[in-house]
Amino acid sequence: MSFAVLCLGTNVGDKLANIKAMRDELQKISKIPLICSPVYESAAVDVKIAQENYFNQTILIETDETPEELLKITQNIEKKLGRKSKNDKSPRTADIDILLFDEIIKKTPALTIPHPRLFFRKFAIEGVKSLNTNLLNPFTGEKFANYRVSKEILRQKIKIIE
Ligand code: AMP
Repeated sequence: MSFAVLCLGTNVGDKLANIKAMRDELQKISKIPLICSPVYESAAVDVKIAQENYFNQTILIETDETPEELLKITQNIEKKLGRKSKNDKSPRTADIDILLFDEIIKKTPALTIPHPRLFFRKFAIEGVKSLNTNLLNPFTGEKFANYRVSKEILRQKIKIIE
Protein backbone atom coordinates (compact mmCIF):
# COMPACT_ATOMS: atom_id res chain seq x y z
CA MET A 1 0.00 0.00 0.00
CA SER A 2 1.22 3.46 -0.88
CA PHE A 3 -0.01 6.99 -0.47
CA ALA A 4 0.02 9.32 -3.44
CA VAL A 5 -0.80 13.01 -3.72
CA LEU A 6 -2.22 14.07 -7.06
CA CYS A 7 -2.95 17.51 -8.48
CA LEU A 8 -6.04 17.78 -10.69
CA GLY A 9 -6.29 20.65 -13.16
CA THR A 10 -8.66 21.93 -15.82
CA ASN A 11 -9.29 25.13 -17.76
CA VAL A 12 -11.93 24.09 -20.30
CA GLY A 13 -15.72 23.88 -20.10
CA ASP A 14 -17.46 23.26 -16.76
CA LYS A 15 -14.34 23.25 -14.65
CA LEU A 16 -15.95 22.20 -11.36
CA ALA A 17 -17.67 19.32 -13.14
CA ASN A 18 -14.34 18.28 -14.70
CA ILE A 19 -12.65 18.30 -11.29
CA LYS A 20 -15.50 16.20 -9.86
CA ALA A 21 -15.27 13.74 -12.76
CA MET A 22 -11.53 13.30 -12.10
CA ARG A 23 -12.22 12.76 -8.39
CA ASP A 24 -14.93 10.19 -9.15
CA GLU A 25 -12.55 8.21 -11.37
CA LEU A 26 -9.75 8.33 -8.81
CA GLN A 27 -12.06 7.27 -6.00
CA LYS A 28 -12.53 3.99 -7.89
CA ILE A 29 -8.84 3.11 -7.43
CA SER A 30 -8.26 4.58 -3.96
CA LYS A 31 -8.40 2.30 -0.92
CA ILE A 32 -9.52 5.23 1.24
CA PRO A 33 -12.04 8.02 0.70
CA LEU A 34 -10.19 10.81 -1.09
CA ILE A 35 -8.77 13.54 1.11
CA CYS A 36 -9.13 16.80 -0.78
CA SER A 37 -7.73 20.32 -0.66
CA PRO A 38 -9.93 23.28 -1.58
CA VAL A 39 -10.42 23.91 -5.30
CA TYR A 40 -8.18 26.85 -6.25
CA GLU A 41 -8.49 29.19 -9.23
CA SER A 42 -5.38 30.76 -10.75
CA ALA A 43 -4.24 32.31 -14.01
CA ALA A 44 -2.64 30.08 -16.65
CA VAL A 45 1.13 30.64 -16.62
CA ASP A 46 3.84 29.99 -19.23
CA VAL A 47 1.30 30.16 -22.08
CA LYS A 48 1.84 31.87 -25.43
CA ILE A 49 -1.72 33.10 -25.94
CA ALA A 50 -4.23 34.00 -23.24
CA GLN A 51 -6.18 31.08 -21.76
CA GLU A 52 -8.98 30.67 -19.27
CA ASN A 53 -8.01 30.48 -15.62
CA TYR A 54 -7.26 27.07 -14.19
CA PHE A 55 -9.11 25.25 -11.42
CA ASN A 56 -6.84 22.94 -9.41
CA GLN A 57 -7.37 20.57 -6.51
CA THR A 58 -4.88 18.40 -4.64
CA ILE A 59 -5.98 14.98 -3.39
CA LEU A 60 -4.53 12.14 -1.33
CA ILE A 61 -5.23 8.54 -2.31
CA GLU A 62 -4.09 5.18 -1.03
CA THR A 63 -3.19 2.75 -3.78
CA ASP A 64 -1.79 -0.72 -4.51
CA GLU A 65 -0.31 0.49 -7.80
CA THR A 66 3.32 1.33 -8.53
CA PRO A 67 4.06 4.92 -9.62
CA GLU A 68 4.30 3.79 -13.26
CA GLU A 69 0.96 1.94 -13.06
CA LEU A 70 -0.62 4.98 -11.42
CA LEU A 71 0.69 7.22 -14.23
CA LYS A 72 -0.94 4.92 -16.81
CA ILE A 73 -4.21 5.05 -14.89
CA THR A 74 -4.15 8.84 -14.60
CA GLN A 75 -3.32 9.21 -18.31
CA ASN A 76 -6.25 6.93 -19.20
CA ILE A 77 -8.55 9.04 -17.02
CA GLU A 78 -7.31 12.20 -18.79
CA LYS A 79 -8.12 10.61 -22.16
CA LYS A 80 -11.51 9.31 -21.01
CA LEU A 81 -12.45 12.81 -19.86
CA GLY A 82 -11.57 14.25 -23.23
CA ARG A 83 -8.03 15.55 -22.97
CA LYS A 84 -6.54 15.73 -26.42
CA SER A 85 -3.20 17.48 -26.04
CA LYS A 86 -0.20 16.14 -24.18
CA ASN A 87 3.13 17.67 -23.27
CA ASP A 88 2.20 21.17 -24.34
CA LYS A 89 0.65 24.16 -22.67
CA SER A 90 -2.65 24.18 -24.56
CA PRO A 91 -6.00 24.33 -22.70
CA ARG A 92 -6.97 21.07 -21.05
CA THR A 93 -10.13 19.40 -19.84
CA ALA A 94 -8.36 17.07 -17.44
CA ASP A 95 -4.78 17.08 -16.22
CA ILE A 96 -3.57 14.84 -13.41
CA ASP A 97 -0.06 15.22 -12.02
CA ILE A 98 1.53 12.88 -9.49
CA LEU A 99 2.99 15.29 -6.94
CA LEU A 100 4.15 12.77 -4.35
CA PHE A 101 4.29 9.00 -4.06
CA ASP A 102 5.17 7.85 -0.55
CA GLU A 103 8.50 9.50 0.13
CA ILE A 104 10.19 8.37 -3.03
CA ILE A 105 12.47 10.46 -5.20
CA LYS A 106 12.70 9.35 -8.81
CA LYS A 107 13.56 10.77 -12.19
CA THR A 108 13.02 8.76 -15.35
CA PRO A 109 12.04 10.02 -18.83
CA ALA A 110 8.37 9.29 -18.04
CA LEU A 111 8.13 10.21 -14.39
CA THR A 112 9.65 12.73 -12.02
CA ILE A 113 8.59 12.45 -8.37
CA PRO A 114 8.16 14.72 -6.49
CA HIS A 115 6.60 16.54 -9.45
CA PRO A 116 9.02 19.27 -10.62
CA ARG A 117 6.39 22.02 -10.28
CA LEU A 118 5.22 21.04 -6.76
CA PHE A 119 7.39 23.61 -4.99
CA PHE A 120 6.84 26.37 -7.59
CA ARG A 121 3.05 26.56 -7.80
CA LYS A 122 1.24 28.06 -4.86
CA PHE A 123 -1.95 26.05 -5.47
CA ALA A 124 0.09 22.80 -5.42
CA ILE A 125 2.15 23.42 -2.29
CA GLU A 126 -0.74 25.08 -0.41
CA GLY A 127 -2.92 22.15 -1.49
CA VAL A 128 -0.45 19.60 -0.11
CA LYS A 129 -0.13 21.55 3.15
CA SER A 130 -3.91 21.65 3.53
CA LEU A 131 -4.18 17.85 3.30
CA ASN A 132 -2.31 17.53 6.59
CA THR A 133 -0.81 14.28 5.31
CA ASN A 134 1.75 12.32 7.30
CA LEU A 135 3.82 12.13 4.13
CA LEU A 136 7.16 13.84 4.59
CA ASN A 137 8.99 16.07 2.15
CA PRO A 138 11.32 13.47 0.59
CA PHE A 139 14.06 16.06 0.10
CA THR A 140 14.20 17.20 3.72
CA GLY A 141 12.33 14.61 5.81
CA GLU A 142 10.12 17.41 7.19
CA LYS A 143 6.35 17.53 7.53
CA PHE A 144 4.64 19.52 4.78
CA ALA A 145 2.64 21.32 7.46
CA ASN A 146 5.94 22.93 8.50
CA TYR A 147 7.06 23.76 4.95
CA ARG A 148 7.69 27.48 4.61
CA VAL A 149 6.50 28.76 1.26
CA SER A 150 8.89 31.38 -0.17
CA LYS A 151 7.79 35.03 -0.50
CA GLU A 152 8.02 34.75 -4.27
CA ILE A 153 5.60 31.80 -4.39
CA LEU A 154 3.33 33.45 -1.83
CA ARG A 155 2.90 36.38 -4.25
CA GLN A 156 1.14 34.12 -6.81
CA LYS A 157 -2.58 34.89 -6.79
CA ILE A 158 -4.92 32.00 -6.03
CA LYS A 159 -8.57 32.11 -5.08
CA ILE A 160 -10.48 29.44 -3.19
CA ILE A 161 -13.53 28.39 -5.23
CA GLU A 162 -14.96 25.79 -2.84
P1 AMP B 1 1.63 17.42 -18.77
O1 AMP B 1 1.39 17.81 -20.20
O2 AMP B 1 2.10 18.55 -17.91
O3 AMP B 1 0.47 16.69 -18.15
O4 AMP B 1 2.84 16.40 -18.78
C1 AMP B 1 2.65 15.08 -19.13
C2 AMP B 1 3.98 14.36 -19.22
O5 AMP B 1 4.73 14.54 -18.04
C3 AMP B 1 3.80 12.87 -19.44
O6 AMP B 1 4.50 12.51 -20.59
C4 AMP B 1 4.42 12.22 -18.21
O7 AMP B 1 5.14 11.06 -18.57
C5 AMP B 1 5.32 13.31 -17.68
N1 AMP B 1 5.51 13.29 -16.24
C6 AMP B 1 6.71 13.30 -15.60
N2 AMP B 1 6.56 13.31 -14.28
C7 AMP B 1 5.22 13.30 -14.03
C8 AMP B 1 4.45 13.30 -12.85
N3 AMP B 1 5.02 13.32 -11.62
N4 AMP B 1 3.09 13.28 -12.98
C9 AMP B 1 2.51 13.27 -14.20
N5 AMP B 1 3.18 13.29 -15.36
C10 AMP B 1 4.54 13.29 -15.29
